[in-house]
Amino acid sequence: KQYTKEEILQNAESSNVRYVRLQFTDLLGIVKNVEIPVDQLAKALDNKIMFDGSSIEGFVRIEESDMYLVPDLATWLVFPWDTPQGNIARLICDIHLPDGSPFPGDPRSVLKGVLERAKNLGFTSFNVGPEPEFFLFKIDANGNPTDQVNDEGGYFDWAPLDLGENCRRDIVLTLENMGFEIEASHHEVAPGQHEIDFKYADAVEAADNIATFRLVVKTIARQHGLHATFMAKPVYGINGSGMHSHLSLFKGDQNAFYDESDELGLSVTARHFLAGILEHAAGFTAICNPTVNSYKRLVPGYEAPSYIAWSGKNRSPLVRVPAARGQSTRIEVRSPDPMCNPYLAIATLFASGLDGIERSLQLAPPVNRNIYIMSDAEKEEVGIRSLPATLNDAVDALLKDSVLCEALGQHVLVHFVEAKKIEYNMYRTQVTEWEKEQYLGLY
Ligand code: ADP
Ligand code: MG
Ligand code: MG
Ligand code: MG
Ligand code: MG
Repeated sequence: KQYTKEEILQNAESSNVRYVRLQFTDLLGIVKNVEIPVDQLAKALDNKIMFDGSSIEGFVRIEESDMYLVPDLATWLVFPWDTPQGNIARLICDIHLPDGSPFPGDPRSVLKGVLERAKNLGFTSFNVGPEPEFFLFKIDANGNPTDQVNDEGGYFDWAPLDLGENCRRDIVLTLENMGFEIEASHHEVAPGQHEIDFKYADAVEAADNIATFRLVVKTIARQHGLHATFMAKPVYGINGSGMHSHLSLFKGDQNAFYDESDELGLSVTARHFLAGILEHAAGFTAICNPTVNSYKRLVPGYEAPSYIAWSGKNRSPLVRVPAARGQSTRIEVRSPDPMCNPYLAIATLFASGLDGIERSLQLAPPVNRNIYIMSDAEKEEVGIRSLPATLNDAVDALLKDSVLCEALGQHVLVHFVEAKKIEYNMYRTQVTEWEKEQYLGLY
């Protein structure tokens, strides 16, 4: 809903709001906020609240640190949990420079930039339907998260007082109170693992929803004495957590991916878009799978993709075309994980697909066989490449992808790559428990 400033001020008063969080997301996808008392709200709505950008990861140098927070009035929301002091509301903000221009290091502005350029192609909605997965872990006596799940042994369905299921139900109720339309919520394959699917939305709103979703899941889990994590592979030997992303484009009220007359019901636009996704898959991996841990999920055997291919039939490849047609025609990209910065991830996914449309890229035939049992020679024959296997490879692939580099912009690209190179090098020089077990005695 698009609120006016007056409506927001009235609503703040009638809802007993005491504090307002001006929310934005840093380069690594972590939600940040500047909290103001409600008497500053009018000033905030006039875009007059400043903050020091130099304290935020990947933002700016000290000498150019003054930033303005520009609230998006459509994101006004009073959090449904009580505090003794009164209610807390939030506004999601864009970040502007003192001269009023969008700050190029703001992920939300990066996404808006990609969509702005794409409007020339005549599309009116850029739909994203995410399926975020997460684990619920116990908290130890000191309040720190453990990696102990709370519904071990698959007894989930039988346990009369299953903390996990109660917690998930509470999360769903809270999200519904906040205006989310929940389509499905279920226990996942791994013990302690859950998935909640909410209705697709236009790209910026979808990214806002993902950021809000993560916040709500963590908050409600804490209230149940549990720690919710979106870490991609928190436990060795069981499935990791992904965030399959369903994508489609609308022109007006028509789904541009649907074509009744096509044998698969897919339009030429959908085919080019999908070809673009495959073309740039190696490039967007660093953004959609942004940590060293992400690459422990993208391995065979745990329902996560590791090869670049598509299918309309089976669920193992990188891209699946779900069976639904008409307005629900969409493609599902299965590699992203919920550690990603949702704004940057969605920006690179659309930049990839739209490049396919602009260049009329030819779509390779679907691979309806199980890729995991194909030999290397067979894979080479049908031209199936692998996704990058490490964060380091993924960053190199991103740097080679000029379309995605341009979509992210110099500021984000430079800071992101620098942060990820440091992360990878720190990781690479660690000596792990596994290595000690393997080598210390034997050699
Ligand atoms: P899966 O079969 O992979 O579990 P789901 O049915 O759970 O898939 O996922 C559905 C997701 O796709 C939801 O977020 C839903 O809102 C979204 N979705 C439905 N139609 C569209 C569309 N036209 N464009 C984008 N996303 C869509
Ligand atoms: Mg699902
Ligand atoms: Mg489903
Ligand atoms: Mg799932
Ligand atoms: Mg899925």
